[in-house]
Amino acid sequence: MDNETWNEFCSEVTKIYNNLQFNSEGDVASYIPQLAKVNPNFLGISIFSIDGRVFNIGDTKENFCIQSCSKTLTYAVALRDNGIEAVNNHIGREPSGARFNAFIFDEDNKPFNPLINSGAIMAASLIKNNDTEDKRFEYIVDIWKSIVGKKNVGFDNPVYLSEKRSANRNHALAHLMMENNIFPEDTEINTTLEFYFQLCSITMNSESLAKYAAMLANGGTTVDTKVKIFDPKIVRDLLCIMYTSGMYDYSGRWSFDIGLPAKSGVSGAIFAVIPNIGGVCVYSPKLDSMGNSVRGVEFFKQLTKTYNIHIFDTLISGLNEKKSITKSSEFESDTIFTLCKKNSYNSLKDILYKINCDVDKGDYDNRRPLHIAVDDESYLSAFALLEHGADYNVKDRWEQTFLNLMKSKKDIKLSACFLLYYKLLFIKHYAFNKLKSKIDCHDFINTL
Ligand code: GLN
Repeated sequence: MDNETWNEFCSEVTKIYNNLQFNSEGDVASYIPQLAKVNPNFLGISIFSIDGRVFNIGDTKENFCIQSCSKTLTYAVALRDNGIEAVNNHIGREPSGARFNAFIFDEDNKPFNPLINSGAIMAASLIKNNDTEDKRFEYIVDIWKSIVGKKNVGFDNPVYLSEKRSANRNHALAHLMMENNIFPEDTEINTTLEFYFQLCSITMNSESLAKYAAMLANGGTTVDTKVKIFDPKIVRDLLCIMYTSGMYDYSGRWSFDIGLPAKSGVSGAIFAVIPNIGGVCVYSPKLDSMGNSVRGVEFFKQLTKTYNIHIFDTLISGLNEKKSITKSSEFESDTIFTLCKKNSYNSLKDILYKINCDVDKGDYDNRRPLHIAVDDESYLSAFALLEHGADYNVKDRWEQTFLNLMKSKKDIKLSACFLLYYKLLFIKHYAFNKLKSKIDCHDFINTL
């Protein structure tokens, strides 16, 4: 990501942050007394890109317990330690369609997925099952630390004790699963539940959770220290589950509208992964009726309206009305420059739609694809570029525009293609006054 794109992205985030200040809907979680004590007005947004850029706005240094956000790491570690088949024997991969703590299981009596309580308790039981409690907890905390930094991981003992005391439902879920015989052999329910409560009571701030999300966006390798935490295949599996089941009963609508793998927790955090780009975390404790942060959901709604970060935005051809968070990479620019010389309308058009890139990106001499097309007399390429919105008035290092070059070349085919493009544009807009600013082109047309 270049500086200009990053700065523009951060100012969009700031704009949304300012709008969100006025949103006071929702209520803080109160199912455990300690959570109800938090300041409901906190709002922090953190972005961590895979190339190591960080942007923080608001209460981003405020620590909170990560609650259900912890379920993602627990599942990934269970996959890493046991392999996918062993884990699949205990936990399903379907959205549950019910509350996160509902008493429902799939047709094999397994929890529907690892991101609801029953599934997360099960995933916890699959981690170092034969070790002592202290070693199991230390094991997971050390993994968190290796991802977000030693000093950035804490533990909220009052939340843990409060959670432990108000855990009838989680106990009931665990007992049901015990009766269904789906825990690994020798599972001790109480220690497993305590382990699960401890994992929910781990604390960090939004910047750290965004950094964790960036590691996932980066295929399992930390973006600053470059430590490989997970195999990309494990990350892919986890992101699939987050995409279908990460937002409680809102998961379907979330994937539809926002289109990003994400996880929320009842403390008010939502983190989302933008594959190959970075991680985003919003912390704001007031929740909607489904248990998701109200301002968190609203933030992502607004962001995905402007930016093409829905995972299908860049995969479906022709969806180019939103801003791109990445300018075209060197590789993509090279491809465009190469295709411009080939005079092939279809292949250039194809790639322009696929990569949704900036067609006016210049080379070291500030020459744009249109300049290259004129030089190589590739009139079909020029037409494809014009159709894609390329600017025919942009100057190269020698102050030459596409129009000047075309005049000097006196190339009939190129002029005809421009004339055709210009006429189509004219017909499209119907009114001459819309083209007033391009009056110089009009003079040019008259000279043809
Ligand atoms: N610790 C919480 C529980 O088990 C986690 C809930 C959540 O964030 N959805 O109920």
